[in-house]
Amino acid sequence: MDVGEEQPAPEPGGHRRGGERRPGSALLGGLLVVTMLLGGVFLLAPGADRDDLRRLLGMEQDRLSAPLPVRSGSGTFKFLHTQRGSDEPVSYSPCRPVRYVVNPEGAPRDHLELVQGSVRRIEEATGLVFEYAGETTSRNFLARALDRSDPVLVGWATPEELPDLAGDVAGVAGSTMVSRGAGRREFVTGMVALDRDTFHELMGSPSGRAHAAAIMDHELGHLVGLDHVDDRGELMHPRGATQGRFGPGDLEGLARLGGVSC
Ligand SMILES: [Zn+2]
Repeated sequence: MDVGEEQPAPEPGGHRRGGERRPGSALLGGLLVVTMLLGGVFLLAPGADRDDLRRLLGMEQDRLSAPLPVRSGSGTFKFLHTQRGSDEPVSYSPCRPVRYVVNPEGAPRDHLELVQGSVRRIEEATGLVFEYAGETTSRNFLARALDRSDPVLVGWATPEELPDLAGDVAGVAGSTMVSRGAGRREFVTGMVALDRDTFHELMGSPSGRAHAAAIMDHELGHLVGLDHVDDRGELMHPRGATQGRFGPGDLEGLARLGGVSC
């Protein structure tokens, strides 16, 4: 499946997911990190949504932080989705915190530090504000479209539970997109699932921990709307976790994702 495929077919009440798999080395240096597209597009009736109502009434919404400056042109980036007829990316609303929960089951040692380090880097790169909503026992990775008030779920799983983690896939991530009354689309919730055994192995050594952090950064990049690019200088290369940190194109894309209107 093309992970950059636009316009998932409306599938009210259901979800669609995709991943990609490539044969190859299972060596840690070659770990593949993929995106999973979640979510049908849920069409909300005009006026049924509080934000749309505010917009209709001409009420300004307040961003949680000022848009970041965008440094253009020195790298490669691609968005998973753009607004119809526009190159503006689909993203989370900069007027609401991105709430997330973490399921500690099967998680490696120091997992919260790992997650929150990546969250901090994504916040710095996008200007979006994340809010930790605590631990959860939920393992409902694939149905985070049923209730738009669901927080983003971060957790660790095995390929037996999530077949998309089979082979050398280290993580999958994606967000559920809703289409609002005026046709404007945004992400409202999502999930990041990391391969349990891979992360246990990586978190056992300092270099492995850096690699685990890079995989987490890559997955959060997908969560907020970045697609893969065929550029080895970017963390959003399918095997970009070896890159270690966000490249210039990644950073431009992330700044644009955080710069959307609410
Ligand atoms: Zn990926």
